[in-house]
Amino acid sequence: ARAALDAYRALEPHTRDGRRIEVAANLGSLREIDAAKANGAMGVGLFRTEFLFMERKALPSEDEQADVYTRLAQAFAPHPVVVRTLDVGGDKPVVGINFPKEENPFLGWRGVRMCLERQDVFKPQLKALLRAAVVGNIKVMVPMIADLDEIRAVRGLIADCRAELEAAGTPHADFELGIMMETPAAALLADAFARQVSFFSIGTNDLTQYIMAVDRLNPRVATLNRTEHPAVMKAIAMICDAAKEAGIWVGVCGEAASRPDLIPEFVRLGVTELSMSPVSIPRAKRCITEI
Ligand code: PEP
Ligand code: MG
Repeated sequence: ARAALDAYRALEPHTRDGRRIEVAANLGSLREIDAAKANGAMGVGLFRTEFLFMERKALPSEDEQADVYTRLAQAFAPHPVVVRTLDVGGDKPVVGINFPKEENPFLGWRGVRMCLERQDVFKPQLKALLRAAVVGNIKVMVPMIADLDEIRAVRGLIADCRAELEAAGTPHADFELGIMMETPAAALLADAFARQVSFFSIGTNDLTQYIMAVDRLNPRVATLNRTEHPAVMKAIAMICDAAKEAGIWVGVCGEAASRPDLIPEFVRLGVTELSMSPVSIPRAKRCITEI
């Protein structure tokens, strides 16, 4: 079975009716680049930047981040690399960000909520991404979006960062801006969000957790933690319909993106990019060719 899958690594998979699907990698550090390429990743669909901020003594500088994002983009060029802005909260504390003790950290001050308040943390990351976009095909997505004002505020900050780089004479380029679709609010307002951004990436891990009101880490309630549940699939269909209507692309980057039982349904709904752990890529490619 392994040898049979090897044949799919280098393939750019199409469905039998000719639709091209991008199969990309979820990465948590630069160390995973080689494994992603060896498995045939067509770019990166989710680069989790948390590792840059965790298990260290101080916040990473703009220069350090620009170097990491540039190396990532160069490694996969001309394929796109989707970098997610910092997604931490009280459950994964970071030195230099003073997280409050919270009853419900998964419903608390995390992701974009924290970043919009801590611009001293967020702006260096956005500037580093604008700088890296000069050399590679960088796209940027924002996690935990639940309100339209959040994406408007992010856009405003990006404009400020661009102006500051311009004034300093630092080379920079624009990137496509998208959002993670992982809150019920974002799914219910998908039509409005689709007019504000260039793409959606469905985070099925959190979307399932929040739609089903079930802690994604608690084994006691794991039987309810099912992305294939009709309630979750209905939300995913709403997100895909809104994207189609607005003419933007939609990907899936949660664990469900690699599931052979769900891939045909995602593709049928209009998803054009699936992003997953590198080891799952060859099997997902084969699955696509059988649709
Ligand atoms: C998700 O929520 O589905 C996702 C991809 O992000 P994370 O697992 O990092 O929360
Ligand atoms: Mg998530």
